[in-house]
Amino acid sequence: MFYDEIQKISWDETTEKIYKKTADDVRRALRKDRCDVEDFMAMISPAAEPFLEQMAFLSRKYTLERFGKTISMFIPLYITNSCTNSCVYCGFHIQNKMPRTILTEKQIEDEYKAIKKIAPFENILLVTGENPAKADAKYIARALDIAKPYFSNLKIEVMPLSVEDYEMLTHHGMNGVICFQETYNEKNYNIYHPRGMKSKYDWRVNGFDRMGQAGVHSIGMGVLIGLEKEFRTDITMMAYHLRYLEKHYWKTKYSVNFPRMRPAENEGFQPNVIMTDKQLAQITFAMRIFDHDVDISYSTREPAFIRDNMATLGVTTMSAQSKTNPGGYYTYPQALDQFTVNDERTATEIISSLKKLGREPVWKDWDASFDHIKMAG
Ligand code: SF4
Repeated sequence: MFYDEIQKISWDETTEKIYKKTADDVRRALRKDRCDVEDFMAMISPAAEPFLEQMAFLSRKYTLERFGKTISMFIPLYITNSCTNSCVYCGFHIQNKMPRTILTEKQIEDEYKAIKKIAPFENILLVTGENPAKADAKYIARALDIAKPYFSNLKIEVMPLSVEDYEMLTHHGMNGVICFQETYNEKNYNIYHPRGMKSKYDWRVNGFDRMGQAGVHSIGMGVLIGLEKEFRTDITMMAYHLRYLEKHYWKTKYSVNFPRMRPAENEGFQPNVIMTDKQLAQITFAMRIFDHDVDISYSTREPAFIRDNMATLGVTTMSAQSKTNPGGYYTYPQALDQFTVNDERTATEIISSLKKLGREPVWKDWDASFDHIKMAG
């Protein structure tokens, strides 16, 4: 399990290594066809900042080779904001006295119908908090069953589950799971996740092994940028994790995401670090050069101009017109969001921008699209 592997990698030594990388290390990495994690560290290090243009060129090239000019579109649906955890950066944490919603089957179906009116989405991501006593794996299974007539690709972003539960959900049509480790720094993990199941670092980090063991078709990973000051170290740990998973569960497809926290306007949790747009671009290019096949996803947390810029340089999946509150498309359009959406354009506006950039939005999952093309051929 990855928890045992990460015990062998020192956080502090990794940080030191990243800052010691030189321009020569970067040049060496950029010449390689297949980079290792040491090369990745060089590409995300401050030493690589003068190489951004070269990195953008390579990232674009590898993305075109593997993904063509298409961007896979998805939409998230929060089906509950009930949560027993207390993540200090999240508005849905248990101490927050806010109205909690667990959508009924009828409300879930109303949301699906409302989403289909927005755009022809086929990829849906069902999102929950963590309250297994009220919204367990069986509840998620029902939401998947109801989704099947409306969507062809069903993914979930929910609490980490057992192998048996992941297996059960695949039988209900689930073909992907997204789970953010948030941070790989075990020493500080409980500062951000003090109580509830999410405070169990090993249960969360080993969740990816359980997904792999259950034969989940696609696994999405991410670290929350803003928690750890040394975000480069966190992303390096994710790169180690990605390589580990690819080796052990090689039939599975992988996606990564680097959600950035922004300073809260009120007295909420303030990020410990702000990743600049340039740093986000550098990390994205480095990830593409490190892993030509990984799907790189940008959500509507990112502003429109960043998403448009990166759509031609490495990003392969995007959400559009997202609501981050349960029932936000139809039932409760005014409820409290989990996080602020920065790209507030409608799906139609996003599609039109992507087309102007020479990108073709695809509504189905990558692999499903490719299978379809192969069958048609
Ligand atoms: S981040 Fe997720 S698990 Fe944590 S409090 Fe928010 S909804 Fe709950």
